[in-house]
Amino acid sequence: MSKGDLVPDNITIEILKKRLARDDCHKGFMLDGYPRTIEQAKALDRFTKIDAVVQLIVPEWIIVTRLSSRRICEKCGEVYNLQFLKPKKPGVCEKCGGKLYQRIDDTPKIIKDRLKVYESQTEPLLEYYKSKVPIVRFECESIDIPPQVAVSEILKGLAKFSFPSKAS
Ligand SMILES: [Zn+2]
Repeated sequence: MSKGDLVPDNITIEILKKRLARDDCHKGFMLDGYPRTIEQAKALDRFTKIDAVVQLIVPEWIIVTRLSSRRICEKCGEVYNLQFLKPKKPGVCEKCGGKLYQRIDDTPKIIKDRLKVYESQTEPLLEYYKSKVPIVRFECESIDIPPQVAVSEILKGLAKFSFPSKAS
């Protein structure tokens, strides 16, 4: 992971299978950043059903800028951003006073490597899902779009489709 590579399929599938079997997934679930390959999507299809795909379209410069200015509290895991969500005291968590650090894979070079992995392995998934499920696209055009705005746009997009509910 520290090199920007992905965790092997057999491991992620087993973790996911166990997690999705838990009670809180009974009525539905959302996977963030998974599947990342066609092989993973096919493995997923063998034990669960995907109703829709959300595609986030973000220009490379925004991804690189946002991720390389991300800082995380080593004590409580709170996430900060040196550009948009600065801690009041530099390098110190506002919640617990813990020290902030930068993830080893949040440097511009490794982020660009991760984007190459995305292009070659994950982008083909759009083609895979296109004929199976609705794809809701959200285009991020500016760097400081508040998460609530993105979420409400995505929910609006999803609301246009009716999904079979698992809850009875
Ligand atoms: Zn903290």
